[in-house]
Amino acid sequence: MEQQTKYLLNESDIPHFWYNINADSPVKPAPAYNPQTGKLATPDDFSVLFPMGLIEQEVSMERFIEIPEEVREAYKLYRPTPLIRARRLEKFLDTPAHIYFKYEGVSPSGSHKTNTAIPQAFYNKIAGTKAMTTETGAGQWGSALAMACQFYDLDLEVYMVRVSYDQKPYRRFLMETYGSKVFASPSPETNFGRKVLAEDPNSAGSLGIAISEAVEVAAFSNGTKKYGLGSVLHHVLLHQSVIGEEALKQMDLAGEYPDVVIGCVGGGSNFAGIAFPFLRENLKGGQRTRLLAIEPDATPSLTKGIYAYDFGDSAGMAPIVKMFTLGHDFMPPAIHAGGLRYHGMAPTLSGLVDAGLIEAKSVPQTRVFQAAVQFARTEGILPAPESAHAILAAMDEAMIAKATGEKKTILFNLSGHGHFDLASYNKYLTGQIEDYIYPQEEVAKISQNIPQIVEYA
Ligand SMILES: *Cc1c(COP(=O)(O)O)cnc(C)c1O
Repeated sequence: MEQQTKYLLNESDIPHFWYNINADSPVKPAPAYNPQTGKLATPDDFSVLFPMGLIEQEVSMERFIEIPEEVREAYKLYRPTPLIRARRLEKFLDTPAHIYFKYEGVSPSGSHKTNTAIPQAFYNKIAGTKAMTTETGAGQWGSALAMACQFYDLDLEVYMVRVSYDQKPYRRFLMETYGSKVFASPSPETNFGRKVLAEDPNSAGSLGIAISEAVEVAAFSNGTKKYGLGSVLHHVLLHQSVIGEEALKQMDLAGEYPDVVIGCVGGGSNFAGIAFPFLRENLKGGQRTRLLAIEPDATPSLTKGIYAYDFGDSAGMAPIVKMFTLGHDFMPPAIHAGGLRYHGMAPTLSGLVDAGLIEAKSVPQTRVFQAAVQFARTEGILPAPESAHAILAAMDEAMIAKATGEKKTILFNLSGHGHFDLASYNKYLTGQIEDYIYPQEEVAKISQNIPQIVEYA
């Protein structure tokens, strides 16, 4: 029999609904607090930043939320994405495990981020928004939203973390090609940016700082500009569920079911996207798939952070949410997976990790690049350094299966390609990449610097 490598779906198989884990989760969502008042946040608090369509999704307890036809139409540019059996990698590892990956790098901007950029721009458009602001780390989110804003005729200002702005000029050129304005963050454009620059003119920036700048611009725009976030928030995780819903159908086509589902985590959205539909099958369908979230040793919010209320940004302007956090003042080292340098983690995902329904593990940067290069040399695809965290974990699982002789089925999400990350690959190939381990003694300091929230019973 001929061996199949790609499992493809038709456009009619693009999901008609986003899946909301909160409808089935045993973990009750923790409410958000207003950063100014310290009181429970109301939908009105959010309306300065987001259109009502997205706020409703943020707090919805409905199991399935219909995807607007206009959004499904735009998804057709690249969805359904392929599920690929990594046969050449299996052979290289000489493992009895079957390794599958869902490839989100086929999206026009190169990552899964378009799955939420398109609906975010769409809901803003129908609410009458004319312009949006956002931050970007590695530039993946900025390019996805830049494309989506152009589709719906919205202006976009992007605050790009300084270290990425310098390391990845081509991502900026892409955003500018899509028609957006890009500023290096910290920037002289905002009060918060000026404050950070005054203290440290050479600041490398952080996602937390860039979020503060983008939020500040939207909050003081008299309602003319809204803000978009590429991860962390519940509506973002919801939009990403198309990944896992398609993967369920594709694993079915392959005639297998995963023993373990793996994704890298920055804010948690691509992992949630592939994992939550499988978690539903664990909770409701009697399956027992392990769900494994992989983060860098350098920014280990799930494995070393504390589970507490903290600000979503550095300036303390974004809503206060309950999550695993390294503290909103955490300054991440300049690792090459820029998209994984966030101090916190999606509250929905944090709650599930805390409840023991999802496992988390951290990995070192040098092994990540080693895995990335091995993957490129066997499967041909050059992965984003972020996605390579999931590749490494999948390879480790496959090697454990080899040692035990177990015929394990592994599924991981390949969240994006690394065509804009070649400078980082060059550093790796010329021996200039080092490991950075988050210092254990920092953990004790986190709790001293988070907002004091009197929890509402
Ligand atoms: C942004 C990004 C990530 C990290 O963000 P999540 O919200 O955790 O998914 C991972 N991979 C790629 C390719 C990204 O662009």
